[in-house]
Amino acid sequence: MSEAKSALVTGANKGIGYEIAAGLGARGFRVGVGARDETRREAAVEKLRAAGVDAFGVPLDVTDDRSVADAAALVGREAGGLDVLVNNAGIPGDMGPDWVQDPTTIDLGMVREVVDTNVFGVIRVTNAMLPLLRRSAAPRIVNVSSSVGSLTRQADPDIEVGPVMAAYAPSKTFLNGVTVQYARRLAGTGILVNAMCPGLVATDFNGYAGSRTPEQGAATAIRLATLPDGGPNGSFFEDAGVVPW
Ligand code: NAP
Repeated sequence: MSEAKSALVTGANKGIGYEIAAGLGARGFRVGVGARDETRREAAVEKLRAAGVDAFGVPLDVTDDRSVADAAALVGREAGGLDVLVNNAGIPGDMGPDWVQDPTTIDLGMVREVVDTNVFGVIRVTNAMLPLLRRSAAPRIVNVSSSVGSLTRQADPDIEVGPVMAAYAPSKTFLNGVTVQYARRLAGTGILVNAMCPGLVATDFNGYAGSRTPEQGAATAIRLATLPDGGPNGSFFEDAGVVPW
């Protein structure tokens, strides 16, 4: 592996992913900008380079086996290995005009699409990148989840958790569960695997309804990507601390 540490951020062409890439780049990481659209990917790479980041583009659709395999090969060629993987790419699924996903009428195809991206996409990318991560002295995996995936909060009538979201919220619960299983399986290898919530961030994702900036949303992911050895493994964090499952 080269001297500089390397990172891959999925869905890094905009929003929170872009700011995670920028933040890791500012900390000296060589950053792979994982993004499926060539024009948006190259624009992000150019913007990062203009800000002094050592960035390279990684064509990546997390729902596509071939694309993910090709991305792993490219990261291997560019960086020789991988120190940090941030699984950030995610979709809300159709929220309808009322910004709700009603479980009693939900379209199963839409649920499948959300799970394919938000959960299977993370498994697909993580497993493709694991051989590269195993070459690192301090590998870190960060899964960008959401506190709407917290069953403890969703089931508490005294906590404001926003609208009913029968595809998106359970996809993040599923992702949290998968995060714990990776943490258990990889315990003792030096690889730390954690999930995080960026808070309600103003991005395309929610029509810029969030009160936080993408930079604020990126902070906990960057912290988890740069954890010291012996740091937490298999936990779920937001800025204020641990999120209950
Ligand atoms: P965003 O601005 O919409 O960015 C989402 C990113 O994911 C885009 O780069 C998008 O690429 C990419 N993506 C989607 N499907 C993909 C696929 N199949 N393959 C590769 N990339 C794909 O949203 P964001 O707010 O930054 O969200 C980033 C993460 O934060 C998501 O996992 C989301 O669930 C989570 N989150 C967001 C909030 C919030 O308030 N915004 C709150 C909690 C959690 P394209 O440009 O090609 O579509």
